[in-house]
Amino acid sequence: MIIQKSTNPRISTFDPDNFSFGNTFIDHMVICEYENGKWGDVKVMPYGGLPFSPAMMGVNYGQACFEGMKAYKDPNGDVFLFRPEKNFERINKSAKRLAMPEVTEEMFLDGLKALVDIDRAWIPQGEGMSLYIRPLIFATEEALKARISNKYMFAIVATPAKSYYTEPVSVLISDFYSRSANGGVGSAKAAGNYAASFYPTQLAIEQGYEQIIWTDDATHEYFEESGTMNVFVRINDTIYTPPTSEKILDGVTRDSFIQLAKKRGIEVKVEPIPVKTVIEAQKNGTLKEVWGVGTAVVTSVFQALGYKGEKLMLPSLPAEESFALALQKDLVNIQTNHAEDPFGWRV
Ligand code: PMP
Repeated sequence: MIIQKSTNPRISTFDPDNFSFGNTFIDHMVICEYENGKWGDVKVMPYGGLPFSPAMMGVNYGQACFEGMKAYKDPNGDVFLFRPEKNFERINKSAKRLAMPEVTEEMFLDGLKALVDIDRAWIPQGEGMSLYIRPLIFATEEALKARISNKYMFAIVATPAKSYYTEPVSVLISDFYSRSANGGVGSAKAAGNYAASFYPTQLAIEQGYEQIIWTDDATHEYFEESGTMNVFVRINDTIYTPPTSEKILDGVTRDSFIQLAKKRGIEVKVEPIPVKTVIEAQKNGTLKEVWGVGTAVVTSVFQALGYKGEKLMLPSLPAEESFALALQKDLVNIQTNHAEDPFGWRV
C-alpha cells in the first residue's frame, strides 16, 4: 500500500457542529486502478478530483457499483467499523453481476482501515455521529463500445455524518414502478438502480409522500424494499421482512435486526409480505409498525402508507412499546461500543 499524506489538510477548518453531510470530504481517499487484467497498488492519497473522459465507459454504460458503511467513535476516541466483511462480500457480489473485476480483501479491508486511521480526526464524536464511507468501483476505459470495460477504478471516499434521528415519514406503496425485476440487478448495489429510482420517488414526493415502498415487478402484490432501505412490518407482536433474493438487496442492517430481534425473543418471520395482508392488518388494528432499515439512518419509522389513492395511518406507539426503536437502540449500542458485542460485529 502506498500512503501519500496530504500536505494541505483541511481538518482544522472542519466544524463537527456545523457541516453538510455528503458534501464535506475527509482529507484522504483510497484509489486503485485495474488494467491488463490486474489491480495495481492501493494508494491512500489526498482527496480530490481526477481527470476522466466523457467517453469513459462507466458513465456511458453504467458499469458502476458502490457500498455504504460507517465508522463510529466511542467516548474514549476509539474507532469502530461495523461488520465490514459484509460490505466486502457485497461489493464483490455487485461487481460480479455487473461483469466487473472483484476487489481483494487487501484493497477493500486494509484500504478502508488505513483511510479511517489516517483521518480519525474527521470522525465526529457523540450520539448519532459517524463517518459515512463510500467504497466504489467504476469502469474507466475510454471507449464508446457497449461491452465489458478493460479498465476500472476502485476508490474509497468518506464524509462525516450527523445524527440519524428522523421524523416518522409517509410512504407510498408502488402499484406501477419497480426498482428491480426477476433476473435483474436489484440485489446488486448498481449505481443505475439509484438513477432509476429517482423519477418514481419524485412522483411520490409530489403526492405528499417521502418515500416509496417498492413492490414486486410482476404483480405489485408483495412488499420488497422501502426507498433505499429494507423493510419490516409488525403485525401484533410478530415482525416480518421479505426474504432476500436477486431482487432485494441483502442489507447489513436487516440481517443485524433479524439477529437482534431473535435475541430479544421477538418472533421474526422471513417471508413474502402481501400488500393485502398489511392493508387488512391496518384496517383491523393489528398492524403495529412498519419501518425501513439501512446504514444511513438505521431506522426510518413510517406514520402512513399510501395505497391506490388512500392514505392509511399507522398507530403512533409510545417509544417504549416500539420494536423498531428498541432494535435500533440495541444496534446503535453495539456499533458505538456502548454495549457488549455478543455477535462479534465490531472491528
Ligand atoms: N436496500 C437498498 C436498495 C439500499 O441501497 C440499502 C443501503 N445500502 C439498503 C437496502 C440497506 O442496506 P444496509 O443495511 O447494508 O445499509
